[in-house]
Amino acid sequence: MVSSVVPKRSRAKAWVLLVLILLVAVVGSVAYLVWRQTVPGVQSLTTPPRFVGQKTSFTVVVEARRGNVARVEVRIEQSGKSTPVATKDSGLGRRVEIPVVVDSAALGLREGSATIEVWARDTFWRPIRRDDRAIAGYPVTVDLTPPKVELLASTRYLSPGGSGLVVFRVSGAARTDVLAGATPFPSFAFGPADKGARIALIALPWDYDPATPIQIRASDEAGNTASRGIPAEIRPRKFPKDTIDIKDAFLQAKVPELLPQRPATESLVDGFLVINRDLRKQAEETKRKIGATTADKPLWHGPFTQARNTKVFANFAETRTYMHGGREIDRQIHFGYDLASTRQSPVPASNKGVVVFAEPLTIYGNTVVIDHGLGLQTLYAHLSSTTVKVGDAVEKGQEIARTGSTGLAIGDHLHYEVLVNGTSVTPLEWWDAKWIRDHVGKPLKEAGLPEIAGAEARDEPDDAARSATPRSARRRR
Ligand SMILES: [Zn+2]
Repeated sequence: MVSSVVPKRSRAKAWVLLVLILLVAVVGSVAYLVWRQTVPGVQSLTTPPRFVGQKTSFTVVVEARRGNVARVEVRIEQSGKSTPVATKDSGLGRRVEIPVVVDSAALGLREGSATIEVWARDTFWRPIRRDDRAIAGYPVTVDLTPPKVELLASTRYLSPGGSGLVVFRVSGAARTDVLAGATPFPSFAFGPADKGARIALIALPWDYDPATPIQIRASDEAGNTASRGIPAEIRPRKFPKDTIDIKDAFLQAKVPELLPQRPATESLVDGFLVINRDLRKQAEETKRKIGATTADKPLWHGPFTQARNTKVFANFAETRTYMHGGREIDRQIHFGYDLASTRQSPVPASNKGVVVFAEPLTIYGNTVVIDHGLGLQTLYAHLSSTTVKVGDAVEKGQEIARTGSTGLAIGDHLHYEVLVNGTSVTPLEWWDAKWIRDHVGKPLKEAGLPEIAGAEARDEPDDAARSATPRSARRRR
């Protein structure tokens, strides 16, 4: 009885509600499907190369916005022909990195423009299935011509722990290094621009293996490389050995100075070994870094000078055996000359240049480094005081500091080094006007380039087998 009296108006309301619910459901479903269909697909996050060379490697990075990446293919397209170079289609996650190697000869690419295309699809369900599509295209230039390297002249006689000059010409290169073994030396444009010549000072480390090649290596932006060996006659050199007795009084004075943070439990000998090994190594790395700050032209003029009234009492590349209490505790190489004079004697700049370093440098104590250009630098260490700062231009013979015994020095003396791009070489060569003429002046003359003032080659017989012993009073400490 009661049901039959449901008012007509309520029934109509229910219908409207039902229709509305259905409408919302239909609109909602359609919107959802439309959303699924329009979710963007895989995107490329690749930083492509600008050039493709004979063999070019790079990485393609893609990422799915929803779901995972289902398939990626990298193609290279040239003159309407598209060739796959890398494909991945299983076990892929949301973000995929694909290493790509383009072997231009195998692909039959020609020099000129081409496009690297990235094709991809994701696993995200859409009402209408999307096929693989090119999601990115990167224009590249195919360059298959390696740089041209032409050796114009070079120092003929080199020695371990010595220097030399390489004169050459390159074309089509973005980067050129002159390498002695694995050590690269920078090169600098030199002479008239139309000649396009470059010069590099090189250094052979004291323990150079004569079988190691010396070469010029040039590479262009497409990664094409060209190498050219440098012929040289390597003359062996003998380096001295010495034994240093480390006294407790020396350790008590020096270890706290050089290792202020040392744990109290550590013995003085252990502290000394940290200084002699780790701090020494740090200083070597700093010297290499300083070597990069150099003028692109020679600043020096004529031979480098030995401070007046000094005697060399410890030699370059001397192997030092450190003894303590009758026991060998360490062995290191000494990279310079120790010059003895009177206490706190004036230290002259051994040639013209610009100060590039003036601060304490671990075992070297207070140190000044002067840049003479082309990577050539001189280092002055154990100074008691300095009168120059970074950026100062100095003349040959100008006083830059006073000798002292800061750092790991036994007694007041000057530790003096000549460096080529951070590699220590024997100072003797650079103190010798004739050596400079024969080894730096001559290659420039042979290459028909203007010579460096004060280093002009003369027509005199090569004196290649010069002794590597400086004027000195050996043995004294
Ligand atoms: Zn020294």
